[in-house]
Amino acid sequence: MSRPLARTTYLKIMMRDKMMFMPRRAFLLAAPAALITACSGAGNGGKAFADTAVTDFSGSEWRTLTEEEWKQRLDPLAFRVLREEATERAFTSPLNDEKRKGVFHCAGCDLAIFESDTKYNSGTGWPSFYDYIPGTLGFKEDNKLWMTRTEYHCARCGGHHGHVFNDGPAPTGLRYCNNGVALTFKPA
Ligand SMILES: [Zn+2]
Repeated sequence: MSRPLARTTYLKIMMRDKMMFMPRRAFLLAAPAALITACSGAGNGGKAFADTAVTDFSGSEWRTLTEEEWKQRLDPLAFRVLREEATERAFTSPLNDEKRKGVFHCAGCDLAIFESDTKYNSGTGWPSFYDYIPGTLGFKEDNKLWMTRTEYHCARCGGHHGHVFNDGPAPTGLRYCNNGVALTFKPA
């Protein structure tokens, strides 16, 4: 387990979109975590959306779907991850090894979230990215597993995607550790 993100780091990430137009160094993060952390999650909850993204999806029809409707739309594992914040087993997603150019979309609502250019091999067994398409993610503190982590979700449908850690590569120093089942890939 690595050091959880400090509260200030969490706030910096939360404010990332709003800081886009500030000098790059303004949101470089301080000391990187020493150890790789699995993006494992447990339990449910997370029903409350943290509307931290610049893009306002609060009026989206995706927000009006009931959990029963989501259950009908999604495969069982995707439902568990996206709607109940479960974590897929490491090294089980084919997207972990996806290396083509293209775009990764939310498996819940098809919102484009990650460009393939920001994907890298973290060795964790989960698709990992060092940045996301601005305005597409929301963040909240996650205090499960006896530590504080920063959870992120699709800003449009609220579907849980993963956790962000500060042991990623340059230029952001961040690692967005994403469940593969929460994504679909569209080759360029
Ligand atoms: Zn979505």
